[in-house]
Parts: sequence; C-alpha cells; structure tokens
Amino acid sequence: MVRESGGEEPPLYCEAAMPAPLDKTFTYSLPEPLRRRVRPGCRIVAPFGGRRPAGVVLATHSVKPDYDTRAVLRLLDEEPALTPELIALGRWAADYYCAPIGEVFKAMLPPAGEIRAAKVVSLTPAGAGAAARFLHADEADDPHVLILRALERRPLTLPYLKRKYQKAEAALRSLEKRGLVKIEAQIKEHGPRTAVETGALAAPRAQTAAPPRILLNGAQQAAFEAVAESLRAGRFRSFLLHGVTGSGKTEVYLRAIEECLALGRSALLLVPEIALTPGVAAQFFARFGDNAAILHSAFTDAQRAKQWRRIRSGRVRVAIGTRSGVFAPLSELGLVIVDEEHESGYKQEEAPRYHGRDIAVVRARAAGATAVLGSATPSLESRRNVDAGKYALLRLPERIHSRPLPAVTVVDMRREFVETRQSKLFSRTLANAVEERLQAGEQAMILLNRRGFSVYALCRSCGYRVECENCSVTLTFHKREQRLLCHYCGFAAPPPKTCPICQSEYIHFQGSGSEKVEEQLRSDFPRARIARLDRDAARGRGQYEAILNGFRERLYDLLVGTQMIAKGHDIPNVTLVGVVNTDIGLGVPDFRAAERTFQLLTQVAGRSGRGDKPGQVILQTMHPEHYAVELAARQDYDAFYKRESSFRKNLRYPPFAVLAAMIVRSRKPEEALALSGKLARHLSPPLAGVRMMGPAAAPVVKLRTEYRYQFLLKSGSRKSIAAVLKQARKFALAQSWPQTALVIDVDPMSLL
Ligand code: ADP
Ligand code: ZN
Ligand code: ZN
Repeated sequence: MVRESGGEEPPLYCEAAMPAPLDKTFTYSLPEPLRRRVRPGCRIVAPFGGRRPAGVVLATHSVKPDYDTRAVLRLLDEEPALTPELIALGRWAADYYCAPIGEVFKAMLPPAGEIRAAKVVSLTPAGAGAAARFLHADEADDPHVLILRALERRPLTLPYLKRKYQKAEAALRSLEKRGLVKIEAQIKEHGPRTAVETGALAAPRAQTAAPPRILLNGAQQAAFEAVAESLRAGRFRSFLLHGVTGSGKTEVYLRAIEECLALGRSALLLVPEIALTPGVAAQFFARFGDNAAILHSAFTDAQRAKQWRRIRSGRVRVAIGTRSGVFAPLSELGLVIVDEEHESGYKQEEAPRYHGRDIAVVRARAAGATAVLGSATPSLESRRNVDAGKYALLRLPERIHSRPLPAVTVVDMRREFVETRQSKLFSRTLANAVEERLQAGEQAMILLNRRGFSVYALCRSCGYRVECENCSVTLTFHKREQRLLCHYCGFAAPPPKTCPICQSEYIHFQGSGSEKVEEQLRSDFPRARIARLDRDAARGRGQYEAILNGFRERLYDLLVGTQMIAKGHDIPNVTLVGVVNTDIGLGVPDFRAAERTFQLLTQVAGRSGRGDKPGQVILQTMHPEHYAVELAARQDYDAFYKRESSFRKNLRYPPFAVLAAMIVRSRKPEEALALSGKLARHLSPPLAGVRMMGPAAAPVVKLRTEYRYQFLLKSGSRKSIAAVLKQARKFALAQSWPQTALVIDVDPMSLL
C-alpha cells in the first residue's frame, strides 16, 4: 500500500462522520499509536455524546482546533473500508440530498463491527471426542450438548451461538475451561463462495453446465457495440437502454460486463429488490460464478459483511446489489448497470433518502465509467435526459426471435355492468379467456394491485370506516387471518362484529384485493390449480421463490397477485395476463400516478407470450379513455412519454422542474401544526425562483402515530432549492427541534 504521507510527520487529528442526524463532521485527536494507522476511509470508535459509536474518518490533518478534542478510542480497519472515490461520493450525496453526513456514511457501510472478523468457536480434538459420545444421548436441553453437536459439523461464530442457544456464553466458558472448544479472534476465510452456496440465492437452473453461448440479434449487437466502444474509450458515458419486454436486455448486460472485465476493470449491476431472486441474478452467477458477489438487504449482517469484504479485497470484480449496492467498494470501476431503472425501489424512503439510480450515474461519472440504465418503460427523468443530450439512447424495439408483443383487449367495466346487470370481478371476456387457457394447458396471470381481501370495513348504518390506530387510513380486511390490517404500519385488529360507533351489526367489507380474486377464481374455476403471489402469501424469500418456481414448473395453472407478479419473470407458457382493475393506481394523489399505472400495465402485459405461443392481455377498466390505460394497451411508450411530458411541463413537475418535499412531524398534532407554521414564516418569502407550496396536511396526515405537515418546493434551479432546504435545516437546529421533526426529501418519489 502506498502511503501518501511517506516519511512526513504523522497527522494529529482526524475528521470523522459520526452516526447522528447532524450536518457536520467531528474532530478527534489521534493517540500516538494510531497516528500512522488511521487513514481516510477507516472506521473508528470514538466517544460521542454518552456513547461510543463507530464513525468513518473522512480526512486526517494536524490543524489544532480551538476547542478541546477527545481522542479516538479504537481503530476498526487497518485498511480503509472506503476508497477516496467513495468518500467523495458520500460527501456529494450528503450535499445533494441535504442529508446528515453521518447518516450517509453509515448507510454506505455494512453494520459496524461486522466487517471485523467475529470470534469463532471450534472443537478441540478432545471436544470432538466428547461430541461423538453425546451423539445419541438424549440431553436435548443441555446447552453444552447442543453446542458441541452443532460444532461437530463446522466451526461457528460466537455471535451466532449466542443468538441461537440460551446461556451460550456461560456454557462456552465452561467448555473452553474443560479444553473442549477453542475460541479464536480471527475468522478463517473460506475460499470465495458463491451466493448460491451460502444459501443467499436459489440455485440457478442448469447451473453446472456452462450456459450455451447465445448469438446476439442485430439490435442487441448494436447496443452491445455502443457500450463496448464506450468501455474501451474508458471515459464516462451514460446510456439509456430502452428495450421492450422480452427483448433480451439481460444478455446485453452480461456481454457488457464480460467486456468490462476483459478490459481489466470491475462492474456493478443494480437490480430492484424483487428481481434479485430467480431471474437476472441466477444468470449472472451462472456466467460469473466465483468472480461475483451479491449485496442484498435481506441478508444477515454477517453475510452482507462477508460479501462486502470479498468486494473490497478485490477478490471479486463483479458486484450485484439492490439500492445500497451502489456503494459496493469496487475499485477501478468500469461499468455500472441499473436494471429496471424506473423502479421506485431504488429510492430509499428513510434517511438518507437517496436514489440509487441517480447515485449510480454520479459514481460512474466520477470513476470515468460507463453507465447503462435499462428498462421497457423508462422513467420520465431518464428518457428526458436523452432529449437533453445527457444520455445516449439504445433501442431494442423487438422481442427475441421477432415474437409479437401480446394482443391487448380493453374491457370497459361500465358497459359490462350495463349489459350483464351484475357487478362481477371478472368480465365475460376475461372469464372466457381463462377457461380457454385451462383447456389448452397454458398458464395465466391475474393481477390486482392491492393485497388483502377487501379494501375497508364500513358500517352500513352510520357510515363509519374502521381506521388504523396509528395512521389516518382505513384498515384492510385479510380473510384467511381474520383480521384487519394497516398497510402502512402493520397494525392489526380483529374485524368488529358490531359497529364501535352505533353498535349496528351491518358491517360490510367493501372493495376487492388479491385474496378475494383468488377466492373468486377458485369458485369460478374449481378444476384450476391456483397460487397467489403477494406480500401476504410470500412472507420470505423462500416462499416467494417456491411459489414462482411452482408456477414456472406448471404446478399451477393460474397465478394471482399484486405488482409482484409483474416484474421481470420470464415464463414461456404464460399466454394470458388479466388485469382485474387498472384504475387502482390512477386515483392516488401523486403526479406520478399515470406514469406508475402505465409502467405497471406495460410490464405485466410483457409477461404474456414470451414463449413460442403468442400472448394475450385483458385490461378491465372504468377509464378506457385514460391515456395511461389506452397507451399501455397499445404498448406505445413513445406516445406516452410525449403526452406525459407535456403534462409535466405545463404543471412544472419533474423532470421539467426540481422538486423537494419537507415534512414536519410530531406525535402531537398541535405541535406539528405549530412547528410547520413557524418554519413557513421563517422561509417566507422564499428565494426568488423557488415556489413554496404548503404547509398542508400530508395526504396521509397521520402515519405511524405521527402527524405530518408537508411543504413542496419547486424550482428551475437545484441550487436555489438546496439553499432553501439548508435554511430550513438550520432553523430546525437553531430552534432545537427534535431530531426527527424535519424530514427533507430531495427528488421525492412518494408524496403521501
Ligand atoms: P427482457 O429483460 O428484455 O424482458 P430477457 O433478457 O428476459 O428480456 O430475455 C428474454 C428471453 O430471451 C430470455 O429467455 C433470454 O434468455 C432470451 N434471449 C435473449 N437474447 C437472446 C438471443 N440473442 N437469442 C435467443 N434468445 C435470447
Ligand atoms: Zn355504525
Ligand atoms: Zn397504520
């Protein structure tokens, strides 16, 4: 390792980002033995308030501050955990998102302490003998015996044993004293293992045989060539890869990564949370195996830290990750790919509220890397960047093997009612199409983007709707569990037998969710084998995969679900996609409602007809004339982009203006109101060129027990918005507001 400071005097102080919602770094003195070891990017433990948290050193120096400093207590990394490139990126993100620097750096690293190797417990030869003797003994409750048996298979970490077994610590102490186990500080690094082996990922199909070499089609080849040329040039360039569903975007990504590796640089692939499971990631591991690491928020801390270490050490050159994977410590980054770049999952909805896709492009720019954003339904922001000359557009206008896009039928549910005088969940068109698929042995997906059985519980006598105790929203009825559930905070209550207001017995459950669709399908098609995929049916990753794989292997004829079924899956035998109600998302008070609806409908339609047999799509709607529905039915992205752009331009919404949201919140409604009023007075009049709307009650005024008042800031100038946000934050700090009272959201994706 080359040391910049060479033979010079070592630094006396360091500037550290500490995990607190504050905008500044903190100066600590370096005790003599640490002066030559603490470098920018290293994590340290230092006194902070009454605690001793881990922080990240951003710089070292010898400028004595004019106040007494406290000393660093411990150094956690001998080699910096963050590269200078990532330190700069973190500083940029803190500034851009007006986010506390300590929180940004905390989000960039795996949980503190876990990067260090955990203590490992293993059996001594005497311990192995003892374990063998216990093998058949029935002393299942004795922690000594349980631990010895567990260790018989392999060494285990101390934190794991403590979590798993009661009184593990005392038991281990006595086992150690008796010479049966040894506890060591260092972890024995196993050879690099793929995520498949660690159980992080389902084994990809046909994993053993090398995947057959696919010949790229003309459009894929042209897209690949453009990216490869940029990789060879070794300078920053951004591409938007707009490929219709089933056009083979993944193969272009894989080739680009191969090219990047061949040029001696590393590559990063970001995928939305849900796609990490079977599809893209499996192909990725089949291709890159041991040279790839996966970063996934669903992993345990230890798993994440391990993958992170593999990347940081340079042993793997390809990383795949969700949102936070954008901070993967790859060096000599040459390529950053963001798959399904339009997905809202890239935006973190808690502090620091960054957008993984946008940071990816900034990171690529700083690294002189090539960025590729891919989607069948690009976000308005990314597509606009093409028009603005910032991104080059690559198109895959056709499906693989020139397969046709599915034929779409729009069913007007108002007419359906007039003609049948019945308000059924499924129109005659959809019911007939399902029946045909069942006859033909083909499969269908039925989407209703709302989970639960019915939308709310209503008293027919007095009109009361059962609401959440913590949020100002109605509770959703979940029939199988026989409970009412809040989809915002998870609050659950048994369904009332009588109205709590008027005691009437006429409680009705109104509206439909995916659970009701499933029940209705079972009664309408009693012979069909039906599975459901939503957040209730798929609680963990295992269940999600089991359901999807079962469907893929044709154990089911019909798959019902929420937007979960719309994403990325490539199941050739699916020839019908039915959308029960296209209108759910259109009523949401958010300027992106049309865009989200268009994306969802286009994506779910794209699941149909991906094999040899052509596909069909049926959209049931009360608003067949709405442009999001109509253009999704025509699968005409360009027309949608044009139409939506003119709406956004006229109302000055992103991407034609910069938007930021501020929320003032408190458990006491009068306090939330008073604080937001004070902030409004302080900020008025806002800077020239910034429009401030609010404060107004947020659409969901009470969320997780807090009352919320919202400001929206709009401007043509990002600088001006940033200035107003900083002013707001300064005010909150000067007025000693509680740390959580002011939420700042730059480029907000959700305005609820
Ligand atoms: P997208 O992500 O654009 O919806 P996929 O990447 O899932 O599309 O590709 C759709 C299917 O086509 C996949 O099964 C993939 O293996 C296959 N495929 C991709 N490129 C080719 C090609 N050049 N020749 C044959 N099959 C291909
Ligand atoms: Zn009532
Ligand atoms: Zn709630």
